[in-house]
Amino acid sequence: MQLPGTQAEIPHQARLGMACPHCGGPARIRTSRSLTRTYRQISFQCLDAACGHTFGAELTVTHTISPSARPNPDVQLRVAPPRKHAASANDQPCGPEVPPAAGQAG
Ligand SMILES: [Zn+2]
Repeated sequence: MQLPGTQAEIPHQARLGMACPHCGGPARIRTSRSLTRTYRQISFQCLDAACGHTFGAELTVTHTISPSARPNPDVQLRVAPPRKHAASANDQPCGPEVPPAAGQAG
């Protein structure tokens, strides 16, 4: 069992997609530090060498989607309600999309 507070690099296969807030280019994780079981601080570096932005982010576990078969009593998360399937009454097909007005072609 890994204790909170340990620091570890996230392996490359565990990529977290994040765009640079300045140039919009892809950014990669430089460091990732787990502070609690549900909270992690991450630093990103923009891959655009002309930008070079380095920035911090936070990752927080917010809720359970499917419950764990090995629940930890120290971890209390709200459970998201199950997704509702479209009711047949509301399952009406969308109407035909109206094409945009002509004249936009450049
Ligand atoms: Zn950038």
